[in-house]
Amino acid sequence: MTPEQQSRLQALPQVQAMLELPEIRRIADSFPREMVLREIRSELDSRRHAILSGDGAPTFDTREFVAAVENRVHAQSAPSMRGVINATGIIVHTNLGRAPLAAEALDAIRATALGYANVEYDLDSGARGSRMAHVENLLTELTGAEAALVVNNNAAAVLLALNTFAQDGGVVVSRGELVEIGGSFRIPEVVKRGMARLVEVGTTNKTRIRDYADAIDSNTRALLKVHPSNYRILGFTESVSREELVALGSESGVTVIEDLGSGALIDFSEYGLPRETTLREAIAAGVDVVTASGDKLLGGPQAGIIAGQKTAVEAMRKNPILRALRVDKLCLAALEATLRIYRDPKKLPGGIPVLRMIAAPAESIRARALVVQQKLSAAYTSSIEDGFSYAGGGALPGEGIPTALLCLRHATLSPDQLIARLRAAATPIVARIHDGRVVLDLRTVSEDGDALIVKALAEIA
Ligand SMILES: *Cc1c(COP(=O)(O)O)cnc(C)c1O
Repeated sequence: MTPEQQSRLQALPQVQAMLELPEIRRIADSFPREMVLREIRSELDSRRHAILSGDGAPTFDTREFVAAVENRVHAQSAPSMRGVINATGIIVHTNLGRAPLAAEALDAIRATALGYANVEYDLDSGARGSRMAHVENLLTELTGAEAALVVNNNAAAVLLALNTFAQDGGVVVSRGELVEIGGSFRIPEVVKRGMARLVEVGTTNKTRIRDYADAIDSNTRALLKVHPSNYRILGFTESVSREELVALGSESGVTVIEDLGSGALIDFSEYGLPRETTLREAIAAGVDVVTASGDKLLGGPQAGIIAGQKTAVEAMRKNPILRALRVDKLCLAALEATLRIYRDPKKLPGGIPVLRMIAAPAESIRARALVVQQKLSAAYTSSIEDGFSYAGGGALPGEGIPTALLCLRHATLSPDQLIARLRAAATPIVARIHDGRVVLDLRTVSEDGDALIVKALAEIA
């Protein structure tokens, strides 16, 4: 250590002296004292390190030290989870929290969460009621099923179905449907955790009804059909229709389960998208139990929707595992409000944000992109180009929705630097880079988000 370093170290103040400064006391009035103390220590530590490694300011400046501590305290106090602007054009973006909720869902959460609610209380009789009562009738009405149940997410729904119907027995699945969703949900592993034995049939590209029929023996408990949500098998292919599976299931007395994945309640071909099987169609085909996510194309809260035959749903309701998978009152409130919107076709697609975004014509996205473009400073070169948005969340794989993309280059910042600055904006903006440019798709941005993007781009410029 040089004598200069030694004297600089000695010039650092004591923690106690800093705590007594009026400016620090003012900070400690608004924030936890323990936190202020910890950040003073951390800031002093980092200055000590700087001095020892030959960096840092040559003299100690109290004002600057107080400002550094204040910044640290503010950073510690900011919420970790914040709203962001999704300018990726991926509508059900799992990393960004999937489906944004309808305003009615938010109102319902507020109305039931701030106080008490009749979550499991029957207001007519004054006796204990069922948690599912709030959504079961809506779900049966919207799907045509005899009975319905809601659990924490679709993964839980599949687990519960397998554990209820196939525990200690075999479940037959096509090799073309051994899906992995987002790393942690893999059909072979879920089957194992459901205490069932996986019986793979067919090949990756072709599975026939005979393959299922040949695999059935006295230990077989279920046939499972899985929506290949995030991939597509093209070319020389063959798969078994749910009608054939249902016929085989009833002939051999085996439960037919279908994991539909995205949970479409309406026909998306109305919006120029390919058909996704709706819950109603799967139920009408006679599947015993259908499962789907609440926060993908359905556009509600995270939930696993289970719909099916009365006896099958009853059996799942009696499974003790259900208690570990159950949904809370916030989820139920949001789901009930979301499903009520589906009851009235006049309110669709506008009432459900996911549907509204899917249905928005490319021309309306282009018009908004033009408005943003016209407000850009000279630091940017920009163009508006044709491109695609995506449903995301393992729904409609490979099916782009035509959109207009705002493509940006900054005079001095690289695309990586520009995209990092956008992420650091007051309301973080998440975009993507394509062909050496930062690309913004306003399809997934709310209308008030456009102005925030303009503001952030102006500040960065
Ligand atoms: C998304 C998906 C799941 C998992 O659903 P979560 O609601 O995320 O638990 C399971 N199966 C299929 C086919 C899916 O698409």
